[in-house]
Amino acid sequence: MKTIGLLTSGGDAPGMNACIRAIVRTCVFNGVRVMGIRSGYDGLIKGDIYEMNVSSVADIIQRGGTILGSARSEEFRTPRGKKKAIGILSDFGIDSVIVMGGDGSFRGAKELSEAGIKTIGIPCTIDNDMGYTDYTIGFFTAVETVVDAISKIRDTSSSHGRGNVVEVMGRHCGDIALYAGLAGGAETIVVPEIDVNIEEITDKVISGKKRGKLHHIIILAEGVGNSYELAKAIEEKTDVTTKVTVLGHIQRGGNPSAFDRLLACQMGSKAVKLIMDERSGLALGMKSNHIFEMDLIEAVQVKHKFNTDLYEIARELSI
Ligand code: ATP
Repeated sequence: MKTIGLLTSGGDAPGMNACIRAIVRTCVFNGVRVMGIRSGYDGLIKGDIYEMNVSSVADIIQRGGTILGSARSEEFRTPRGKKKAIGILSDFGIDSVIVMGGDGSFRGAKELSEAGIKTIGIPCTIDNDMGYTDYTIGFFTAVETVVDAISKIRDTSSSHGRGNVVEVMGRHCGDIALYAGLAGGAETIVVPEIDVNIEEITDKVISGKKRGKLHHIIILAEGVGNSYELAKAIEEKTDVTTKVTVLGHIQRGGNPSAFDRLLACQMGSKAVKLIMDERSGLALGMKSNHIFEMDLIEAVQVKHKFNTDLYEIARELSI
């Protein structure tokens, strides 16, 4: 009898629980034994593992976070840690592992695959920074959260004729800022992929003010600049009072969107089927609404491509 272990690793993402549920239920449906590994690779090394069944995943499809817990493990990166992990898998009779996480987690999965464990990676991260797939699980939920926040900020911004800098996650990848900025009708979107100078931002605020615009929303991906300094510069150059809202970890939580749940159900199911077909060392992705698999390491090497078409549309619509 096959035994699949599953773990969630790296930053948590809404939809991980829906994916855990899909994996466990597909296993049970097909007579495969399934074991939950708590706290990512850290829990694997410690043997924090339990058998799961249909009931272990009841009532979690709608919950954010991960019932398995997540962690980062430096020890797992060492040869000693890896050896320990492989020993634990053997002790528990686990021959296959499904890893839900970002590119770091996938590199860890590849190590297991090279040691003879059947391994499949499922992309779960709110940043959408994995270039081989159109979307990662958790991304659209984070976008919804930011759009909701922008709408609320616009209400108060309009009432007072203020500017607002909204800082969102995405240190190396501006997708959350781009998608949420476009959907939220932001005036300016500042992302790591595109250079924007302060004059472009302030000119827009000034021209908006001239034609009676009451709100000025600037979405800033974290790490591109300091949001408080940006707000101060806007105030000084435009005379528009500008507030800052740093959304922070609120973007990680909340009920997964229908899209993320659908992605999670499809990928969880496919991961189990691939293992049943004796496949290994693969990452699952979605391209043009189709779920596909490719080599784990080739997948993490694909550089994320910024969607300049969407960025251009956002520029045109925010005149
Ligand atoms: P996120 O995108 O949310 O940051 P991630 O999966 O990229 O998620 P990381 O912290 O990079 O998050 O990786 C998670 C864990 O994967 C690490 O703590 C480590 O245990 C393991 N890992 C990362 N890189 C490697 C590697 N090169 N070899 C072995 N294991 C690794």
